[in-house]
Amino acid sequence: MPERFEHEVVVIGAGLGGIGAGVKLKDAGFNDFVMLEKANDVGGTWRDNTYPGLTVDVPVITYSYSFKQNPNWSNLLPSQPELLEYCQNVTTDYELWPHLRFGSSVSEIRFDSQDGVWHTSLHNGDTYVSRYVIGATGYLNVPNYPDITGLDEFAGKLMHTSSWDNDYDFTRKRVAFIGTGATGIQLIPEIAEMAVEQLYVFQRTPIWLLPKPDFTIPLAVRTSFRRIPGLMRLCRLATAIFMDQVFYRYFIKYRQMEPLGRLAERMSLTHLRTHVKDPELVEKLTPHYTWGCKRPSFSNKFYPVFNRADVELVTDGIERLTKNGIVTVDGIERPIDVLVCGTGFHPYGKESTPTFPVYGTSGAELRDYWDQNHYQAFRGVAIHGYPNYFMVGGPYSIAHGAYVGVVETAVRYIVKLLRVARKQGADYIEAHADAQAVEYQDIREKLKTGILFQGDCATSNSYYYDRFGDTPGFRPSNHLRVWIDSRLGRFVKSFDISENSARTGLQETESAGITPDGSDRPTSFGP
Ligand code: NAP
Repeated sequence: MPERFEHEVVVIGAGLGGIGAGVKLKDAGFNDFVMLEKANDVGGTWRDNTYPGLTVDVPVITYSYSFKQNPNWSNLLPSQPELLEYCQNVTTDYELWPHLRFGSSVSEIRFDSQDGVWHTSLHNGDTYVSRYVIGATGYLNVPNYPDITGLDEFAGKLMHTSSWDNDYDFTRKRVAFIGTGATGIQLIPEIAEMAVEQLYVFQRTPIWLLPKPDFTIPLAVRTSFRRIPGLMRLCRLATAIFMDQVFYRYFIKYRQMEPLGRLAERMSLTHLRTHVKDPELVEKLTPHYTWGCKRPSFSNKFYPVFNRADVELVTDGIERLTKNGIVTVDGIERPIDVLVCGTGFHPYGKESTPTFPVYGTSGAELRDYWDQNHYQAFRGVAIHGYPNYFMVGGPYSIAHGAYVGVVETAVRYIVKLLRVARKQGADYIEAHADAQAVEYQDIREKLKTGILFQGDCATSNSYYYDRFGDTPGFRPSNHLRVWIDSRLGRFVKSFDISENSARTGLQETESAGITPDGSDRPTSFGP
């Protein structure tokens, strides 16, 4: 029997974004919230992706919350189980488990303008009614299966890297791996070590790769992190500022920093030539686009794989799959037992950002609105026409630090707005249309000096561009600026913060919980 629940805030997703939102809601005294999670654990991408070799590839000291430092990280770039455990530990330490509702897959959310509340419907028929919704569903969670003729007819084992089957035995199997992105370069060397009979790596666009600067964090350093107050925070700050400044300048002020790109290209090429001796292979693995047009990565294991006799790099296009093989455009069929798709996700796809329809004040679906107006959100968190709905990691929210910093600033914007509304006795928060439009134009203008519009990116095939040719993954600002902006709170002036009943002219009796049709209406939220 479908049930109906009422809470002040519904958070959708329990990855790093949702957990960050939960922690900061509690800190600010917003205790009446639930976190809806489709799976059965927290951790988002670190729960779903379990393939061997998966590690974070930015220094973990910045890829962790400022409010929950972990002095026990094993490595600079630790592996997935540690990251997942970290997410679980934060959930425990901040007592978020009671707020979690697992197995809650959202089918749609709809704003009720009369009552000023959101109705969040689940696929199981349950409904949550809340004043506010925070969407923290991430953007790398809808797998992209390659659109290859015959995929349905393939009779062997088919896997996408995001739903890895750890029980599958690769011994003596003929394996095809499609994709050489950040996932492929981590997983391909691990598969090669699994005593496979043959591994075919299908590469469409080569990736820029630097040596992986990973190391075990010495015990003395970990002990110092534990014992010396502020040391870890200082290291985090220094790393974050360095990454922020370098990446911001490189990605947004590209012409000023072009020599840095050339240096990165030279270092990457040296790395490639050190490990691969065959000139034909070197040529195939060499990218012909500017370093940074698509996501570069780090690996010490990827290039040496191609020196093995049981690994073949295939750069001819894939024409089709047969029942037992994969055929390239030159007509060659390679018999295979397993097909692994390291083909990534649909970031900023129409059905993936977010994964459910969002109906705003006019009944317009957010994804249709974006289809017509391109991706936009004021400060990356709020959209005019969608009051009381906020996003963590929304369009143009990613400045140039690690993603966790993006989460923290987004959540700070949101919680600040909620606090102001509560202080004013208001319950309606909407970004002003003109503020959103001005900011959007400014963002587009500033991005024009960035690498994605100034670099030689034509052959990069980069997912940084969405279907409109825009680059909504990036904010043309350094993270420090966003951090300050989210603290100063001047952005609040760009919002209409008011009482919904005053807007709709609702009668007192109605707002007390009786609707014209006699059905229940939520009456109060909050402490
Ligand atoms: P990705 O970067 O999108 O790479 C997908 C790969 O599959 C590309 O090489 C792509 O070729 C290829 N591909 C896609 N469709 C294809 C088709 N139909 N035929 C042939 N090749 C096809 O995906 P990913 O490697 O899963 O990485 C996604 C993101 O996850 C990363 O960018 C990163 O943000 C994140 N990630 C992070 C880490 C970490 O350590 N923190 C690790 C893994 C992933 P084209 O380039 O030609 O499209």
